[in-house]
Amino acid sequence: TTRVVWFRRDLRLNDHTALAQAINDSDNDDQLLLLFHIHPDLNKEFNATHDYFFQTLQSLVTDAQEKNIPIHFIEGTVTDAFTELLNHRNVDAIYFNKDESGFGKQRDDEFMEEVKDKDVEVCSFIDHHMHGAEEISKKTGGYYKVFTPYYKQWKQYQKPNIQKVDHEKLTKLAIDETSSFKDGNKAYDSLIDKTARDFDAVGEKAAWDRFETFVEDAIYDYEDERDFPAVDGTSQMSRFLRTGAISIRSMYHYIDDQVDYRKNTEGVETYISELAWRDFYNMIYHFYPEAKNKEMVEKYRGLPWNNDDELFEAWKKGQTGFPIIDAAMRQLNETGWMHNRLRMAVASFLTKDLLMDWRKGERYFAEQLIDYDPASNIGGWQWAASTGTDPVPYFRVFNPTRQSERFDPHGRFIKEWVPELENVPKKSIHDPSQLSEEDQKEAKCVIGEDYPKPIVDHKTMRERAIEMFKDQKDGS
Ligand code: FAD
Repeated sequence: TTRVVWFRRDLRLNDHTALAQAINDSDNDDQLLLLFHIHPDLNKEFNATHDYFFQTLQSLVTDAQEKNIPIHFIEGTVTDAFTELLNHRNVDAIYFNKDESGFGKQRDDEFMEEVKDKDVEVCSFIDHHMHGAEEISKKTGGYYKVFTPYYKQWKQYQKPNIQKVDHEKLTKLAIDETSSFKDGNKAYDSLIDKTARDFDAVGEKAAWDRFETFVEDAIYDYEDERDFPAVDGTSQMSRFLRTGAISIRSMYHYIDDQVDYRKNTEGVETYISELAWRDFYNMIYHFYPEAKNKEMVEKYRGLPWNNDDELFEAWKKGQTGFPIIDAAMRQLNETGWMHNRLRMAVASFLTKDLLMDWRKGERYFAEQLIDYDPASNIGGWQWAASTGTDPVPYFRVFNPTRQSERFDPHGRFIKEWVPELENVPKKSIHDPSQLSEEDQKEAKCVIGEDYPKPIVDHKTMRERAIEMFKDQKDGS
């Protein structure tokens, strides 16, 4: 019997449901073919998300090689690539971890359509999330649209076990047919050549290093420190979760084993609730796939967004004259990651201070983030734009200067990313436009020359935003 294991956004060799199941289902004289599919569009468009993803893939290939396990590549549309594979090879079953939303789900649907009349067994599993999109629903039926009641249920559900991968058996079962996958190999080499940036923390080993350090040093302080971008207070695990370099189940069980529950575990509880947000947004995007383009709140579907390209450019480049916004955007552009507090702040700024369409921001993040996850990104953007889930009783507009004073009180984060403001004294760092001419000279930062004047007046724009939303009638 020959089984194929199709890798996707699960680029690791441990606690991997499809891989573990395929091995468990195999006898010693069966064969396993490990596979990654490359869509031709990938070779056209490349951004930071791709750079990071394909470096992780490369890391998986290397880790697998060390265990004498070859990974094969096929190229083409899903239909072409799999038709070719199944026409030329005797494949009895295909195993993969399925996607429940977005492009991944469309690809899975296309694949299922393609193989439905073929003589091949398809074994697909929920693996990317702790709880699948359809697992947790309201007792009265339907899906949750607010996080808190969802989370109450989420906590009560039994957590799935680790899916242990027997590496010794895998090495014996894995076949090497790489020489007959020339086109796929070429496509893979071309992708790897295209990755422009190098990242330090890539792949399964790096994921575990980071996670172990976080759980040992920082998880207890997470509640107090997670909102301060100058502090390394969050786990930075999103990139590893996105690529599947680590499994969410392993993270959960590791915390459960390692945490000393005699200590103050408020931070641990908050951290676990953040992991549940990831499941929550996956569930929302599964049930509401239109969310990529459409506001979840119906009455906000016709908002007259501003289309000023210059303002958008200033936001993208970190040249708005609001130091915390600029620091955040520069961090994103340079590292491919942004702190959660700042994602909320810059998203609020784009939608409420510049009155620009959240879709533009969502797309810009999609190009820049190495942890880009459509479900979480769309969820986060719609939340910030007040068009999505978890609407609050009041209208949410972040005051960028106030956010800066609260969460970067000494301006340490600002100074790290906006060096023009290095000599600006602490009391003016959140709003350097208030510096007198003399103080500007002293700080070697002339506002309007070395650093921009604020591109908008927050107070005025806040009022305009409130008006703009108020003007929308229900159902319009
Ligand atoms: P930690 O604070 O250490 O949290 C641990 C993990 O919990 C994260 O790695 C992530 O998997 C999950 N998590 C935490 N907060 C959220 C959240 N609000 N929603 C969903 N999952 C969460 N997260 C992404 O993974 N990809 C995105 O594309 C993305 N886009 C966002 C866009 C906006 C506008 C906003 C407001 C948030 C977005 N988030 C996104 C959520 C969050 O900002 C990041 O997950 C977090 O900053 C990643 O850093 P971390 O791993 O250090 O997080």
